[in-house]
Amino acid sequence: MSKTVAVIKGDGIGPEIMDATLRVLEALECGLEYEEIEAGLGALEKHGTLIPQASLDAIAKHGVALKGPLTTPVGKGFSSINVQLRRHFDLYANVRPAISFPGTRSRYEDIDLITVRENTEGAYLAEGQSLSEDGETALATIKVTRSGSERIVRYAFELARSKGRKKVTAVHKANIIKSSSGLFLEVAREVAKDYPEIEFQEMIVDNACMQLVMNPHQFDVVVTTNLFGDILSDLCAGLVGGLGLAPGANIGKEAAIFEAVHGSAPDIAGQKLANPCALLLAAADMLDHLGMIDKGTKIRTAIRAVLERDRARVTPDMGGSGTTDTFADALVEYCQAG
Ligand code: NAD
Repeated sequence: MSKTVAVIKGDGIGPEIMDATLRVLEALECGLEYEEIEAGLGALEKHGTLIPQASLDAIAKHGVALKGPLTTPVGKGFSSINVQLRRHFDLYANVRPAISFPGTRSRYEDIDLITVRENTEGAYLAEGQSLSEDGETALATIKVTRSGSERIVRYAFELARSKGRKKVTAVHKANIIKSSSGLFLEVAREVAKDYPEIEFQEMIVDNACMQLVMNPHQFDVVVTTNLFGDILSDLCAGLVGGLGLAPGANIGKEAAIFEAVHGSAPDIAGQKLANPCALLLAAADMLDHLGMIDKGTKIRTAIRAVLERDRARVTPDMGGSGTTDTFADALVEYCQAG
């Protein structure tokens, strides 16, 4: 039976890069069906909500979604759809690969690491934030649980095992934030014992930042709590040349949502200048997740090959003079060539 994926085309450049991505998936003959669902500005106009219940139901039914970037309307009363989806489906793992591609402006070559960020607790709680009446004192709560730490660290080790990765580094600040970061580290040490074939390393977050900048090749899979993961994953995107080629996934028990890390880029929307690769790489990670590892690898190889050999057809952000469509044409030709 073929698998159906819920598809949110998104706002701004979303529909352009989603069409390009679906063309490449089609060329790879993945055998997937797609159900397009509503979310974002279009849904707000039509239904008065950024993400209608029917769309949530479709994601729940299919368990996998591919999502274009969504614009969060400016003004009070709108919480980001990404946050809503994360809460609704308890998407506890934010997974962001950082891979070097040819022709990108970056400090290093041959980087291939994955950050796994805990997505539901840590310092990013809505509750437990307060400001005293005189405006003098602000308080924020950090919540780390044993079960939350265990599921994220176990996810990182399982990911490492499934992808043949050699090392998992737990990043923490247990020397100073002894309670919450200490608990995360204690659990990470316990979980690591179940994966003796994978090297376990622990590193304090400030040192991890320096090590990532000076010697990133020592890292393989990095697992950490919410706030540190937010910062480190952008640092890693910077190591490989920014957001143009940065995919992300939000994974829970019931659903997994794959997307580009960048936003809806209103400044270039409708001009066919958008680079489709971040969303395509997200689609590659989705294929891995669905067990189609060969097809996921094929997408990454195709992007590498086109960036190396066919630069005239790639988009201007990658130094080419092409459009979203010519970039997609080149990728489709590569995939169809076998
Ligand atoms: P952005 O990522 O949309 O754009 C930043 C810059 O990068 C712009 O100059 C843009 O032209 C360029 N850019 C982004 N993606 C590109 C691509 N694929 N190809 C070529 N150039 C690209 O960030 P922003 O301008 O801060 O945000 C715009 C909107 O997107 C906001 O409403 C924001 O809330 C939303 N947003 C959504 C997501 C998401 O849905 N995951 C993520 C970030 C921002």
